[in-house]
Amino acid sequence: MFLRIGLGFDSHEFEEGKPLYLGGVLIEHTAGFKGHSDGDILLHAITDALLSAIGEPDIGELFPDRDERWKNASSEVFLKEALRRMRNKGFSIINLDCVLVMDDPKISPYKNIIVDNLSRIMHVDKTAISIKGKRREGFCKDKGAVCYCVILLGHES
Ligand code: MG
Repeated sequence: MFLRIGLGFDSHEFEEGKPLYLGGVLIEHTAGFKGHSDGDILLHAITDALLSAIGEPDIGELFPDRDERWKNASSEVFLKEALRRMRNKGFSIINLDCVLVMDDPKISPYKNIIVDNLSRIMHVDKTAISIKGKRREGFCKDKGAVCYCVILLGHES
């Protein structure tokens, strides 16, 4: 078996009145992420980590925000396409680790629901998925959130 690692990052500004999606889960909040799609920074970071691990073009190249097909699209579509490409190349996921940097809302009440949903979408055991919520503590004080994801893949060959 040989291994491949991928790193993904995403950030979006909040927009009042938009639904907030994280990891494909609707989160109760007054604002969602501004963006062409549903702005789900967690799914975007995971998708980009996956795509880079398998040497594919990044999320912006595959799903450009000038393309009307992706307007208000569920980001699950992007992740599922990345997973399809990964399986076609003979890889499987060993584990993924995500850091979500966001002051509000607190992610802890939703963590298990998000992990369950990612496990369902990605067909990965829940113990191989980690999501950590971090507060900014003075770092980058603006009205948005950022997410990092690192993913490890294995190839049977
Ligand atoms: Mg994005």
